[in-house]
Amino acid sequence: MSSDADLSAFPNLTPTEFRLLKPLADVVEYEDGAVVFRAGTAEVDLFAVEEGAIEIRSPTANDALITTHHAGGFSGDIDLLTGRPVIVSGYARGATRVLRVPHRMIRTLLNRVPSFGEKLISAFTRRRELLSKVGRLGITVVGAGYCKDTNLVREFLHKNFVPFNWLNSETEAGQLALRAQKSDCPKPVVDCGGGQVLFNPTLRELAKCAGVWRPCPGELVDLAVVGGGPAGIAAAVYAASEGLSTLLLDRLGPGGQAGGSSKIENFIGFPAGLSGTELATRGVLQMLKFGARMVAPVAVERIEVPADPREPRLLHLDCNTVTRARVVLVATGVGWRKLPAVGAERFESAGIHYVCTAVEAVLYDESDVVVVGGGNSAGQATMHLAECCRTRRVHLVVRSPLGTGMSEYLVSRIRGAANVTVHEGAEVAEVDGAHHLESVVLAHAPSGTRERLACSGVFVFIGADPAARWLPPEVARDDSGYVLTGSDALRSGRWPLADRSPCPLETTVPGVLAAGDVRAGTTKRVGFAVGDGSLAVTCTHHLLSLR
Ligand SMILES: Cc1cc2nc3c(=O)[nH]c(=O)nc-3n(C[C@H](O)[C@H](O)[C@H](O)COP(=O)(O)OP(=O)(O)OC[C@H]3O[C@@H](n4cnc5c(N)ncnc54)[C@H](O)[C@@H]3O)c2cc1C
Repeated sequence: MSSDADLSAFPNLTPTEFRLLKPLADVVEYEDGAVVFRAGTAEVDLFAVEEGAIEIRSPTANDALITTHHAGGFSGDIDLLTGRPVIVSGYARGATRVLRVPHRMIRTLLNRVPSFGEKLISAFTRRRELLSKVGRLGITVVGAGYCKDTNLVREFLHKNFVPFNWLNSETEAGQLALRAQKSDCPKPVVDCGGGQVLFNPTLRELAKCAGVWRPCPGELVDLAVVGGGPAGIAAAVYAASEGLSTLLLDRLGPGGQAGGSSKIENFIGFPAGLSGTELATRGVLQMLKFGARMVAPVAVERIEVPADPREPRLLHLDCNTVTRARVVLVATGVGWRKLPAVGAERFESAGIHYVCTAVEAVLYDESDVVVVGGGNSAGQATMHLAECCRTRRVHLVVRSPLGTGMSEYLVSRIRGAANVTVHEGAEVAEVDGAHHLESVVLAHAPSGTRERLACSGVFVFIGADPAARWLPPEVARDDSGYVLTGSDALRSGRWPLADRSPCPLETTVPGVLAAGDVRAGTTKRVGFAVGDGSLAVTCTHHLLSLR
């Protein structure tokens, strides 16, 4: 995998950086062939090579050589910060001398030497991308592309930065792999390596086998953030960087809706755009660097609010644990509306999707697909699907004329793409197929004429509803279910305290804040959610100072 040209993934440390490392490290010498670290080890140390080299090999791919860190290089990827078990092993090549920084010192190192931190974090992000592309590492998932459970397993692993190899059970290679596992299961089979095979696992079982699971948290924290989208991650970064004990909980993994975006082009500072996965990876590494904790998959089922506002709020988690937090931030975003078409239910997550990342795009090889919706999310998905496979046709189905809800740059790209057909003034009325999704029927307005289009996948972006139903009734909402905060909360007449007003992001339950898409009156954009998340930390400081 190693490409010497890829300097962002494999940069060398400068002599000054080696000097700065020394006070935090032990000098260790290894003989040729000695194990430096072994796959499966959690909280592994950082190794910077002074002399000799470290070979990185994959035990799940017959110990294949992945890369070699020569003198000046250093080991590690994302798992160095997450503390999760590493998926590769390191062996000394030749007589090797390293600086070994204990895992517990890595955060100190990143914070004490910012230039070093930047180099490490860019390298770790890039290395994990390269590792994921190798495709023979870590976990193997065998299952049908049209199977909902298989797609959930793939989405979970993707969201949680776990490299995996997917074999479609409809292909010869997939059939062979299933026979090797003695399974004729139509559901996903997951080979975690080391002889551990799961048949149609729950997300929690999968998280455990992938080394992602962290025990359900029970301790008291300053700020508990519910939801790991841009708002939640931004809040965790700011809160942890300002010394608050911070816990982030997500029912699936970090990224939120933004994680389902193939390319975000309107986020300040990234003129060439960045994928939602990249944004989430960087944000999570940043919050871990500052000491925030993340636990997923964990859904918060309920918030219990003691009568005394100085008492911690109680979060009831779906892992039978109650977490206590001085302040809670609800950043649970929205859920996309289901396609209201005859037959659509049969193909949910198995032909019909509400995100469009590399995980979904590869499902349909060269076949034609349909995108439904007139907003930026639909526009991005259309261009992603059209550009990733020029021989397929992408049908964009919009109720109104294209352009009313979509940025101009996307409209002109769509109009100019040779393999995109725009169906304006149309709706998807029916979805059909025997075993797989095979076609949709469009209904054209105002005539009502119907047209059948052959396609294998449908990507739906037709509006969203706030993920706020789980909140207690004391949290006031607007008519569409979005959470009222600040002056809106006060105006609702439901604010219970006489001695103070709510802070700008505080809901009608003191000490419970809301930020991002779930909050009433917000602009549903990544940049806005990030700003809201940071404002929540200002509110948190204010509330903590009142205690
Ligand atoms: C495909 C797509 C493309 C987009 N592209 C762009 C773009 O280019 N530019 C742009 O500015 N905006 C874009 N958006 C919009 C942008 O992604 C959202 O505005 C932003 O993600 C909102 O962030 P959030 O943190 O408020 O919520 P979300 O991103 O919705 O995150 C909410 C999180 O909460 C978690 N959650 C929900 N309920 C619970 C619970 N009870 N317990 C635990 N966790 C829970 C969810 O799993 C989720 O991870 C796009 C959206 C989509 C869907």
